[in-house]
Amino acid sequence: MESLKNRLNRFMVGRYGIDQLYYAGLFLALGLMMINMMVNSTILMILSNGLIVLIVLRGFSRNISRRRMENEKFSKVWNTIKKEGRIFFRRIKGIRTHRYRKCLHCKKTLKLPIKRGKHMVQCPECKAFFVVRVIV
Ligand SMILES: [Zn+2]
Repeated sequence: MESLKNRLNRFMVGRYGIDQLYYAGLFLALGLMMINMMVNSTILMILSNGLIVLIVLRGFSRNISRRRMENEKFSKVWNTIKKEGRIFFRRIKGIRTHRYRKCLHCKKTLKLPIKRGKHMVQCPECKAFFVVRVIV
């Protein structure tokens, strides 16, 4: 007799399996279900259940290269969102002590101490000088 685990392992051979996009889809579907508990909409129910079916079928897919490409695209977008979010929260945290300005030459973001008025600033990256105005 073959155990259930062995049978499942054999079934999954050559299939894609679980990745970041799988978890993201799952969390999104769970989020939609939570919202649906409050608003009780048929559209949200269909969306969340359809999403779960879609991500499970995606995990069983044999077209591994295509699923990998999808996950890579998702990872790129997700990493950008994560990075921008981190920068956003860092700026909020330092709003009382610092201001952020982009270097006009290399586009790098500089963290400057608050000094009201016009100032000449040197970019530590490209060493170029430019004027910065801090109003508030
Ligand atoms: Zn620069």
